[in-house]
Amino acid sequence: MNKTFSIAVFSGDGIGPEITAPTLDILERMAAASDGYDLRFTDAPAGASHYAKTGESLPEASMDIARASDAIMLSAMGLPDVRYPDGTEISPQIELRKALTLFAGIRPVTVKPGQKTPLNLPADRGIDFVLVRESTEGLFHTQGCGEVTNDEARETLLITREISEKLFRFTFDLAATRKKTGRGPGRVTCVDKANVFRAFAFFREIFDAEAARHPDLIADHAYVDATALWMVQKPWDFDVLVTENMFGDILSDLGAGLMGGLGLAPSADIGLEHAVFQPCHGSAPDIAGQGLANPLAMILSAAMMLDWLGLRHDNDAMVQDGARLREAVEDVVALGEVLTRDIGGTAGTKEAANAVLETLFVS
Ligand code: NAD
Repeated sequence: MNKTFSIAVFSGDGIGPEITAPTLDILERMAAASDGYDLRFTDAPAGASHYAKTGESLPEASMDIARASDAIMLSAMGLPDVRYPDGTEISPQIELRKALTLFAGIRPVTVKPGQKTPLNLPADRGIDFVLVRESTEGLFHTQGCGEVTNDEARETLLITREISEKLFRFTFDLAATRKKTGRGPGRVTCVDKANVFRAFAFFREIFDAEAARHPDLIADHAYVDATALWMVQKPWDFDVLVTENMFGDILSDLGAGLMGGLGLAPSADIGLEHAVFQPCHGSAPDIAGQGLANPLAMILSAAMMLDWLGLRHDNDAMVQDGARLREAVEDVVALGEVLTRDIGGTAGTKEAANAVLETLFVS
């Protein structure tokens, strides 16, 4: 009998439920067609709309569902008009990262040859690298409790040995997996500002210690400002980049820009026990309820989930389905016939998701 994997689903706010429904439909069909695994989805209420109705943004019952699941899918949460009394927004996705110690934020940046990108790439040239963003500390450490007086404001950047060691171990393992599957040369670049800040010299020293354990992989360093330049000038040179939380936050949007927009940018936040898979974009309230949202970033995040579960549980069928789903989305984008408005087409959410289904099951 197939193993059944339990998936907690935070369908969230704004366009969240609109992109979650077709993604679950695709996953259900893939699981039904596979003799290697089954999936069981459990709805986990949370977010700004839930807060507006109940006064709770991330109920303990939903945290319990998340903790008990094999993986967590999340669409997007938060609405600019719904805020806590202190004026900050409802962001359970950030609370989840901290509560479940999801230190590795994975942001793949892929552009297939022929796919539209703001870069003037030669027709036969693609981009395929991964940005790993530390997601629990760095400059987000004092998030929500920085000191602000009339005359000055302070936030503290925190880098710990414990989290950095876990982060770099994870990153080198990721580069090794990519190398094994022919997706990269096995190079890890530590992105920092070690020329100016002692905290980043500390970060780099821990990186170098982990690098020494992987003589079969290439390790190098780059300053974050130069990295931003090279992401535009020669992004095909990168394989796996690893960086601090705030630097990663900014560079991942640059990566999404290279791919043609947020609607194509998937992500995963991974820890030792749990992982959340979600698109990089927010709840897009400006287009919510109109059937216009691009579901592809969410579907690509689901592909990352299949891959992660498959590798973690030694389940080849899931790893293969993860790659199949990612390639189906990439084919739809490269073909360019059924694209949503945000990436230059006229299709709606349903048509875009159907194009992926057809690529998977018909062609
Ligand atoms: P956003 O990503 O929601 O939207 C930015 C722009 O991109 C908008 O014009 C939107 O229409 C467009 N867009 C985003 N996703 C799209 C998609 N899938 N298809 C088509 N167009 C898409 O960012 P924002 O407007 O700054 O934030 C809106 C809300 O989302 C805020 O409340 C914010 O706090 C929240 N947010 C949540 C997350 C998350 O859950 N991870 C991330 C970012 C923002």
